[in-house]
Amino acid sequence: MSRLNVLEQTITACRHCPRLVAHREQVAHVKIRRFRDCDYWGRPVPGFGSSRARLLIVGLAPAAHGGNRTGRMFTGDRSGDWLYRALHRAGFASQPHSISRTDGMRLHDCYITATVRCAPPGNKPLPEEFNRCRPFLMEELRLLRRVRVVVALGKIAFEGYLKACRELGYGRPHPRPAFGHGTAHPLPWGVMLIGSYHPSQQNTFTGRLTAPMLDAIFAKARLHLPPQPIKNKKIHHGYSEAIRILMRERESGSLDAASREAFETGRIWRDGASRAGETRPAMPAVHEDARLEQGCARARGPNCHATQEYGRPGGHVERDRTAPPRFLR
Ligand code: SF4
Repeated sequence: MSRLNVLEQTITACRHCPRLVAHREQVAHVKIRRFRDCDYWGRPVPGFGSSRARLLIVGLAPAAHGGNRTGRMFTGDRSGDWLYRALHRAGFASQPHSISRTDGMRLHDCYITATVRCAPPGNKPLPEEFNRCRPFLMEELRLLRRVRVVVALGKIAFEGYLKACRELGYGRPHPRPAFGHGTAHPLPWGVMLIGSYHPSQQNTFTGRLTAPMLDAIFAKARLHLPPQPIKNKKIHHGYSEAIRILMRERESGSLDAASREAFETGRIWRDGASRAGETRPAMPAVHEDARLEQGCARARGPNCHATQEYGRPGGHVERDRTAPPRFLR
């Protein structure tokens, strides 16, 4: 059994916060009318995703009738609908809907966790409850060694992640990162921290967070990860969609400085450090450039790697990879 599985078992058996234990169990017992036939989970909700993830998503806490009912992060509620739809479009999730623990959802290169594991009354955990639950997040950060990008959903999750890193001895970044939707902060320990509004109904119903805004967050996360082959065929379409969103954001000038630089230099992040001199052209630029410039005799068939990678026919790349893509020249 992996250490992540052991941690999962420890989390689901935890009863350290009397107030939260009472609330989660009361909600699971009383239920609400539309879920009266459901067997509620009614326990702490462990993290969900790949142990080799390079993208980590940090939320606040499970919803009373979402994660607390289904037993999986962001599953069975409106926030989850928004999050998984965006993850699917960006190529991190195998399907756009997350209904139950047995719905077949697979996360690719992505892990979802939260600062508190039990559903809190009014979605507001107390400071001491954050403190009691933080060791679980810290242990996940220790075990998920490949993480290079962290998306924090909401200011509380943003601060919670930084606090966990500080307690792990990673240090304090200067200047102190300030939460803002879509802002990317390079951290000294080799992680890019991206803030996002939480996809709660409070934000999505009021239009504070829209679907394209959330899509752009994960397109940006994709930008800061080195490319790697995606084997799951279901993911290809979402991957190309994320890249298109990112290009639109770049063209409109709304891309933040760190992301623009990464986009334009094609800088590779490896082992927690960006290596000067190692460059790659941005993926969509390579693809578009090659397609427009020369095409390829092998292109446009179903076995064309560009077709598989980007979900549409394209050309192979036979050009100087250190030169900037044509539309940047
Ligand atoms: S919130 Fe965290 S520490 Fe508190 S009971 Fe739940 S799992 Fe345990």
